[in-house]
Amino acid sequence: MQEIKKPRKPLIFYYVIVMIILLLFNFLLMPWFAERQIVEVGYEQFIKMTEEKDIGQVEIQQEENRILFTDKDGTRIYETGMIDDPDLTQRLVDSGASIYGQIVKQTSPWLTLILSWILPILIFVGIGQYMSKKLMNRASGGPDSMIFGMGKSNAKVYVKSSEGIRFSDVAGEDEAKESLAEIVDYLHNPGKYREVGANMPKGVLLVGPPGTGKTMLAKAVAGEANVPFFSMSGSEFVEMFVGMGASKVRDLFKQAKEKAPCIVFIDEIDAIGQKRDGRVGGNDEREQTLNQLLTEMDGFENNNGVIILAATNRPESLDPALTRPGRFDRRVPVELPDLKGREEILKVHAKKVKLDDSVDFNKVARMASGASGAELANIVNEAALRTVRTGRNCVTQADLEESIEVVIAGYQKKNAILTDQEKKIVSYHEVGHALVAAMQTHSAPVQKITIVPRTSGALGYTMQVDEGNHYLMSQEELENKIATLTGGRAAEELVFHSSSTGASNDIEQATKLARSMITRYGMSEEFDMVAMETVTNQYLGGDTSLTCSAETQAEIDRKVVELVKKQHEKARKILEDNREKLDEISEYLYEKETITGDEFMKILEKK
Ligand code: ADP
Repeated sequence: MQEIKKPRKPLIFYYVIVMIILLLFNFLLMPWFAERQIVEVGYEQFIKMTEEKDIGQVEIQQEENRILFTDKDGTRIYETGMIDDPDLTQRLVDSGASIYGQIVKQTSPWLTLILSWILPILIFVGIGQYMSKKLMNRASGGPDSMIFGMGKSNAKVYVKSSEGIRFSDVAGEDEAKESLAEIVDYLHNPGKYREVGANMPKGVLLVGPPGTGKTMLAKAVAGEANVPFFSMSGSEFVEMFVGMGASKVRDLFKQAKEKAPCIVFIDEIDAIGQKRDGRVGGNDEREQTLNQLLTEMDGFENNNGVIILAATNRPESLDPALTRPGRFDRRVPVELPDLKGREEILKVHAKKVKLDDSVDFNKVARMASGASGAELANIVNEAALRTVRTGRNCVTQADLEESIEVVIAGYQKKNAILTDQEKKIVSYHEVGHALVAAMQTHSAPVQKITIVPRTSGALGYTMQVDEGNHYLMSQEELENKIATLTGGRAAEELVFHSSSTGASNDIEQATKLARSMITRYGMSEEFDMVAMETVTNQYLGGDTSLTCSAETQAEIDRKVVELVKKQHEKARKILEDNREKLDEISEYLYEKETITGDEFMKILEKK
């Protein structure tokens, strides 16, 4: 599908330019032109010309303190200053000049009116018409659609074309595709549904974290159904002036109805669809826009062929009126891809790059656990860039693995020089994590340990790889995870008898996990299955808010500390018991800077 570019500059911009040009013309250029024709001469020249009777008309301008006169033939206009000359009148009479003739023609008031007001207005209107026609054509690809201007929607129209996005381009997300396939079928064959009396939902809400392919899915529905696709972001509706957004919504729906059957896609609908909370000083413009959207959705009769798809990553913030039956009554979750999904997405994007035989997508997908579709696309692209940078022509497994690290931890920091002692501490820290993970049966095996600093600020890291999909985690697994996170600091304490700042991220993660176990997963004896916290932002980082009394909060804090402390002790115990291995592997890492999981396990299993 081709996307047609939106106009860059608003019309008002062109109006202002024309206005400035006209003002300059009127005030500066016109008088300048008039004055330019006059030649300034001395008084003696004037006397000489009167004596020679080479003078035609004379105009005495008392207020200006000047005399304007022409030569005999009237071809040139001269100007001279007035001086106290008692013979002036006689001199002029003798010369035969006609006095008081108007030399510099005063423009008639009508002409002035036409030049200064009517002409500019006509030019304005002309330019306005021309521009709007041009923009209109650009936007619709034809001369017969909407007129652009303030309050008009600037929905992009995706023209149908054979290379449109299809469901096959969206990898994974099988459940979402299945749900949307019904809509495609309806757009192909509405009669089948009408016969039975079934109504297609007017609106479908695609919810999920950013970068999981919501926009792609909406485009794919349009591509599969071979219908026009209107797309607009929620934030584009909200303008500075109240009422503009509502007018844009009206306009968008008008266009859509003309082009039905079609798909209207509203990205980031939470920008306009947020709950109206009736607070004083609320956002009037947004609420009016939302009201208009609700009205439009009610307004069109059933089965008129306009299907609205909307995407959001904050479904909980949407106004209930928007999600009630009859409006966005179908919700399609577009979740982060699972292992199989990740592998498929990698394959889809890898089609565009040249691959080496060594590439194992399953392994890459396992390493990139938790990555979204957009991140996976980025990983493939980073790998391709790295291939070019190193002067090869095929993307290898190593390129892909390195690019995962680039996407997760940033680029390698070339000029970060760690002191010897720092490097040693980082080695022990990372091996501490890895060793604690490996010694606890339930922890995932270590994939790679590195102490090469990254641009994200990480001085090193241990990459763990899940063997399969994990949907559930037991209490024991969570505890082991906390122990693994504290393993780095535990190793530092054990070996160097001191703590460093390197563990701040581990501490944050461990605390978050421990808090969730107590407040949300019901994993403490004391609080049993009572929720102390609710997730407010499921798809965007999972922010939480506490829903308990201040005393309980204090109790929770105590419990969290207790839990983390216990796991920290456990980690230290594991490392104490395996001190020799800790030293051996840390020294090896210190030498090599990066070691693989296999190398790690080899040393660990060596008797
Ligand atoms: P969202 O709208 O959910 O934020 P997009 O649909 O804009 O995400 O996806 C951004 C990019 O990520 C797409 O252009 C595509 O390259 C890639 N992508 C995301 N999900 C998928 C998927 N399931 N299959 C293939 N590519 C995907």
